[in-house]
Amino acid sequence: MSHNYRLEQADPNSAVRALSFFGFVIVAALSLAIIFAIIFSSYFGTPRDQSDFMMMTIIITACVAGPMGAIAAQNQYRVDRYHATLEAMASTDPLTGLLNRRAFKVLANEEISRMQRTDHGVCIVTFDIDNFKQVNDAHGHAFGDRVLTSIANISHAALRGPFDRLGRWGGEEFVILLTNVNVDQAQSVCERLRERIASTDLTFNGTTVRVTASFGIAPLTKGCRLEESLEAADQMLYRAKSAGRNKVMSVAPLKSVA
Ligand code: GH3
Ligand code: MG
Ligand code: MG
Repeated sequence: MSHNYRLEQADPNSAVRALSFFGFVIVAALSLAIIFAIIFSSYFGTPRDQSDFMMMTIIITACVAGPMGAIAAQNQYRVDRYHATLEAMASTDPLTGLLNRRAFKVLANEEISRMQRTDHGVCIVTFDIDNFKQVNDAHGHAFGDRVLTSIANISHAALRGPFDRLGRWGGEEFVILLTNVNVDQAQSVCERLRERIASTDLTFNGTTVRVTASFGIAPLTKGCRLEESLEAADQMLYRAKSAGRNKVMSVAPLKSVA
């Protein structure tokens, strides 16, 4: 299943492509119109009346440009779709349909740049399925893959669509960028997700399992680099594992001093 996450970056070449496309249609239509006009004139003679000549040229140009434009537009549409597919493949994790690590980093860094201009809070969450090796060992790798896909779907459904970004960091570890939240609010979001994961029966081929996940949260403060925040979230995740798993741990929010 694909979550249709895509890198929403402006394609710097799209304007050039559109211009070259229309340029191609105009030049090709004019050239063919001139050729047809020459052939027409050589058979029927050049019309003496200037308005007749104009009309003949316009009709020939329209007859040539219409079908050519339609064919070229269809071709352009195919090329654009092909580019979009390549782009999606490069930014999407093939198993879960989530953002891959590369795409997540691009989007998170865009969010950081946006954050420099506003006062919106942003938090980074890393979470990891607990004892996942046991699931693979007990039920096989294919079963494990379906568990991973289900956790991706549950997480995707629990977040706020386009505002929160969800990615697969690798293996059975996921990453979330939560926007417009402070650490306390991020903690509640993750608690909700943790409970939902822990309480969902995952059934494939008649076998039902339940898994839990551990979460680490760190704020992305102004001027802080994504890597620093990811590392802090990872440390919290490590603490959640050490504290017995199926837990959410966050970097303590800064308390304002009165
Ligand atoms: P912990 O609670 O400490 O995270 O324990 P864990 O068993 O989840 O962690 P560990 O690192 O020991 O094992 C992770 C397992 O995840 C081992 C690896 O085979 C499995 N895994 C990683 N990627 C995939 C995948 O794409 N598909 C499947 N089915 N398994 C995967
Ligand atoms: Mg794990
Ligand atoms: Mg892991």
